[in-house]
Amino acid sequence: MRIVIMGPPGAGKGTQARRLSAELKVPHIATGDMLREAVKEGTELGERVRWYMERGKLVPDEVMIAVVRERLSKPDCSMGFILDGFPRTIPQAEALNRILEEQGAKLDCVLEIDVPEDIIVERISLRRVCRRCESAYHLKYNPPKEEGRCDRCGGELYQREDDKEEVVRRRIKVYREETEPVLEYYRRRGLLRRVNGVGSIDEVFSRVLEAIRGGCIGGGDDRAPIRLDEEENRATPA
Ligand code: AMP
Repeated sequence: MRIVIMGPPGAGKGTQARRLSAELKVPHIATGDMLREAVKEGTELGERVRWYMERGKLVPDEVMIAVVRERLSKPDCSMGFILDGFPRTIPQAEALNRILEEQGAKLDCVLEIDVPEDIIVERISLRRVCRRCESAYHLKYNPPKEEGRCDRCGGELYQREDDKEEVVRRRIKVYREETEPVLEYYRRRGLLRRVNGVGSIDEVFSRVLEAIRGGCIGGGDDRAPIRLDEEENRATPA
C-alpha cells in the first residue's frame, strides 16, 4: 500500500507512521528523519538543508523532490510505503504523482492526523527523541522506561532544535500556509481521510486502521488483500 500521512508538527504522525509501517510491512519514509540524518553525518545534502531546518522553514522543493525520487526507487518500496513529511507543497504533490506514474503505481490514500494547535504546543514541548534511532517519546503520555534513555536502543534522548517553542510556532504557521493546500489537493482527488489525532497512541492508531479499512482497501483493483490484525496491533510497542 502506498500511503501519505500528513498533519501539523506534533500531531503524532511519526509515531502512527512507524506503527503502520510495522503493521503493513512496508517502509516508513520520513523526510524529516532523512534530513536530520544527513545533517548529523555532515553530508553535502545535510549542509544544504541545515539552515532551513534550524529555522523551521521548508527546504526548497527541488532538493526534496530529488531526495524522495531516489528513496522511492529503492527495491524496498516496490510493495508500498508510508510517506511521512512529504509532500508539503503543491509542487511536491505534483512531483510525487509523476514519480509514481513513472513506476506505474498510485497512492492508495492520504491520512490527515488532525490535532488542535493548543494541544500541539503542549505535546511538542514535552517531546524527546532518541539521538541514535530517532524513536519519539512524550514525557507525559509516552515516557521512556528509564529517564533520558531510549527503550528501543538505549540511545540518549534529546529535544530537537526545531521542537523549541518559537520554532514550533513557525512550523505550525508554515503548515497552515503551505501544506494545507496539499490537503485540499488530495481531498479533491478523493484520497484524503481525516483522523482525529486527540487521544492515546492506541486510540489514534485504531482510528488510523479504521480509516485505511474504510478508505484505502477494497478499491476493486487487483492488489492482494492485506491483513489488518487488531490483536497484533495491541501487542505492537509504541
Ligand atoms: P519534520 O520532522 O517532518 O517535521 O521535518 C523537519 C524539517 O525538515 C522541516 O521543518 C523542514 O525544514 C524539513 N523538511 C522535511 N520534509 C520536508 C519537505 N517535504 N519539504 C520541505 N522541507 C522539509
